[in-house]
Formats: sequence, C-alpha cells, structure tokens
Amino acid sequence: MAFDFNHLSAVGGDILPFVARPSEGESVTIHQLVAEYGAPLLILDGDIIRRQYRALSAALPGVELHYALKPLPHADVVDILMEEGACFDLATTGEVELVASRGVSPERCIHSHPIKRDRDIREALDHGVKVFVADNADELLKFLPYRDRAQVMLRVSFRSPDAVVDLSKKFGCAPAQVMNLLEEARRFEVQVVGLCFHVGSQTTDPRQYVTAINTCGQLITQARAEGFDLRVLDIGGGFPVSYGTVVPEIHGFCGPIREALARLPEGLRLLAEPGRFIVAPAVTSVASVMGRARRDGRWWYYLDDGVYGSFSGQIFDHMRYPLEVIGGSGQVEPSVLAGPTCDSIDVIAEDIALPELQVGDLIVGRVMGAYTWASATDFNFFRRATLVTLNGAGQVQAVA
Ligand SMILES: *Cc1c(COP(=O)(O)O)cnc(C)c1O
Repeated sequence: MAFDFNHLSAVGGDILPFVARPSEGESVTIHQLVAEYGAPLLILDGDIIRRQYRALSAALPGVELHYALKPLPHADVVDILMEEGACFDLATTGEVELVASRGVSPERCIHSHPIKRDRDIREALDHGVKVFVADNADELLKFLPYRDRAQVMLRVSFRSPDAVVDLSKKFGCAPAQVMNLLEEARRFEVQVVGLCFHVGSQTTDPRQYVTAINTCGQLITQARAEGFDLRVLDIGGGFPVSYGTVVPEIHGFCGPIREALARLPEGLRLLAEPGRFIVAPAVTSVASVMGRARRDGRWWYYLDDGVYGSFSGQIFDHMRYPLEVIGGSGQVEPSVLAGPTCDSIDVIAEDIALPELQVGDLIVGRVMGAYTWASATDFNFFRRATLVTLNGAGQVQAVA
C-alpha cells in the first residue's frame, strides 16, 4: 500500500487514503489503521524508504550507501533496504544482531562506533563484520589481537557548529593527528584502510562535506607518499530532510559534494552512512486526544504519545515535527498539546493554533522516522507507539 502524503494536508478531513497495491484503488484510512491497531501509531511507508534511498544513490553515484541503523533500527527498514541492494552501518552488537537476523551478509556491513569494548569488536568479528573505526591510539591497540581479521578507518573530526547535531564534538581525531595515528597503527601492525568523518546530523550546508573531503584527500595523498595504503573514504551521514522547513533537494545539495569527490586521489572506495535522510520522511505518527482541560483561557489537549514516546526527538534530536489534526471544529485558537505522562516536561507544543478538539480526535505528525521511535521510552508505563509498515519488503515496485 502506498501512503499518499498529499492528502494529509486536508486538515479536518478524515479520508486520508493509503492507495493499496498490488490492486490499485484499495485504500485504508488512518481511522481504519487506528481502529485496527489502536493509538498511538507510527505508520512506516516502505515506498518512501525506497524513494529516499534511490534519490541519494542518484545524487552520489559511485558512493556505497550504508544505512546507519541508529535513527530507526527496525527489521522492516532493513528488509526493504536489503532488497534495494543497500549496505549497513552498525554501531553496537544489538544492531549487528538485528541485520544478521534479517540475513544481511556481513560483507555489506561496517561497524562505525569509534569507542568499543573488546567484546563489541569480538562479537562483530564473529558475525563476519571486518571494517571498524578508531580515532585514537588506545582504540587502535584494542585491535592488536584481531589485526589479521580487522580493518580500521580513522575517524577525523570536522566541527560543524551550524549542524543541529554536531557529531564531531564527541568523536574524531584532529586532521593534524592522522599521520601520527597511522605511524602508531603501523607499529602495532593494525591495518588502517582509510578515513571517515561525520559532519553532523541534519547538515544543511554542503560546504561542510566539501571541506572535510578536501582535507581527507590531502591527508590520503600525504599518507600514500609515506607508504600507507589508504583505499577508503567514508563521508558519513548528516544529509538533511525538510521538517516543513526549506532544505535544498538532495541532488542539488550533493552537487558540490560530487565535485569534491571527483577531485580525490585515484583508487578510493567511497562510502556514506546516511541515517536520517533514508527514514525521516517515511514515518507518520498518529496520536489521539485522551483528555482535555481548559486552563488559563486555553485548551490543553492530552495525547497518548509525547516527548517520552515518539516525540522524544524533540528533546534528544532537537527537531520539531509538522503536525496536523484530523477532527476538530470551530475557530482555531492558541492551544497546548501535551503528552500522556505525569511529568510537566512532557509537552509537545505550547502555543499551537488548533480548532476545538474532542477526546478521540487524532493528531498526525509528519517526518517522524528518524530518532523518534528509536529513542522513545515507556516512562510511566505508557507503551511506545505501535509501528505499522505499509509497502514492506516483498512488494518492490518502481517508485515515481
Ligand atoms: C548517527 C550516525 C550516522 C547517521 O547520521 P544521520 O545524520 O542520521 O545521517 C552515521 N554514522 C555515524 C557514525 C553515526 O553516529
């Protein structure tokens, strides 16, 4: 079944068709899904995963895309991407086990956590994963027992103060340390095969990638001159999506990145680790109003999902999601949307213009696929939203 996003903008209407496949014309509404599975729900549309994967593949020709599981570590996403021929970027044994349980071949996987315990390395190796990441000498030393089996990429830090989530603050060595670490690895006889970086999640300026690629290109040239056999450059994740905000479309966004990649030294295998870009637009959330109260002249609506649940990304990922209402009547007025728990931080929107809602009316959130379900809790014993997949694996079709 295909979820038709355009119909979502029909605020107040309740015909929100999912166009079914293979027999076109069959449809299911959000109300039917809520009737069947209950609220809160997360509706994952496999066709949007396919569309995003294909769009990024086309925008980065010659770059192997490894889906980073972290934003949405779900078996259905793995299955859909496996059919697309994707590779995977893993960071924990849980993620290694998830892809292994879906039949992903370990050659299609890399393990990119820069700081690991011995057993994290061992468990990944036991599953057949061979490529790892390190960013300091202590970490390189951990590969000593596995130096015949493991290959390492050095993670280089490029700070992105403008990215919403700066992933080079916590991890990565300075470009000036790379040569020292290569010498160190040579001393331990640990195989370093390349460099990697992550410019920060939801990076809206491609120049961050360009700077990082150019610097890595220079480092690789320098390292090769010293006899180091660097063959891989991994440009990480961070590719942006629109949350109702203006974000460049991906092909244009990647234009300067393609040019920078074309200037790199010869003979490099190129990788990227997109997470958010692949899954964010593919999930729509549905929460229902479980109660309401008039406080200080405005309506407070209490939903069955909140910041301890699917809206956890408002806290951890610093995102706000486009929201729409199914139901409601009368004039819109400033209102409050709160989550179900007894904690006062659990407020989704303080000042949102809404028509008057009744218990049972539905609030639909868009672009809810990345860092939402993944970081949801069951605080106060409110269960995480049920994730329902439409157009899952085994239903591959051309995507417009
Ligand atoms: C989180 C993460 C990703 C995915 O980043 P997005 O911004 O979601 O694309 C990729 N690689 C590593 C190492 C990460 O930690």
